[in-house]
Amino acid sequence: MSWDDRQRAMLAEMGFRLPAAAAVAAVEMPQASEATEPDPIDVAAPSPVVVRVARPAAAAQLPASVATPAAAPMATASDFTGMDLPTLREAVSACQACGLCEKRRHAVFGGGALGQAQWLVVTDPPDDADDAAGEAFVGDVGRLLDRMLLGAGQRRMMGPRGEAPTAFVTPLVKCRPPRGRAPLPAELAACEAVLVRQIELLQPRLVLALGLQAARRLTGQTEPLGRLRGHVHRWGGLPVVVSFAPAYLLRSPADKAGAWDDLCLALRTTQSS
Ligand code: SF4
Repeated sequence: MSWDDRQRAMLAEMGFRLPAAAAVAAVEMPQASEATEPDPIDVAAPSPVVVRVARPAAAAQLPASVATPAAAPMATASDFTGMDLPTLREAVSACQACGLCEKRRHAVFGGGALGQAQWLVVTDPPDDADDAAGEAFVGDVGRLLDRMLLGAGQRRMMGPRGEAPTAFVTPLVKCRPPRGRAPLPAELAACEAVLVRQIELLQPRLVLALGLQAARRLTGQTEPLGRLRGHVHRWGGLPVVVSFAPAYLLRSPADKAGAWDDLCLALRTTQSS
């Protein structure tokens, strides 16, 4: 499948750099059909995916398929074991497992695929708009994220012709830290139980970590975002690809080209996993 003029124009408008025409290969993704959305994309295929095995998050209670020797119990976590997705969402809305519950207006559970997801998109903690709405990525940031996902053949919402969502988008911690500060280690550890249960239920093939806080937590590293990008990390057994936060891309559109490279890496990784 090749890029048509409309796809090229749309992606160029977004600031995404396209792969060279001679180095593309088809990606088997659900068909995006509406006129304003891109079709499944082609990505540069020949370069092999290089996996960087990172130290996983120490407190993760990962499902058996992604369990790691480093897994350890969490002292402050609620027990979300056995909950289905709607029940888990309800539990999170009333969760008091860490101090972030005190100042939140709404917990942000996230949304997207209702069954198995191709991608789990894990973002930095909710911002003020997310906290007010109780939803992840509202407004311009959400529109940019949705277009990025659609460009990669993924969607977090039902399409106009009934296309099922293939991605689930959720914040690293579900409640906004006061004044937008970074979550404390105990808060991260407490909320990881929710993320782990989401992974158990959604069985994603890949985790896309958007933003520095999500990237550092899921790679177990403290390097700058620029050094975490461009590699395939592991969180338990799951491949993790790192990219910019959409809110940052709105402020720094020159980095959209790099974000596009990251999405292409995620696609290649999904194909090869
Ligand atoms: S951040 Fe997570 S663990 Fe803490 S109260 Fe909110 S949902 Fe519960």
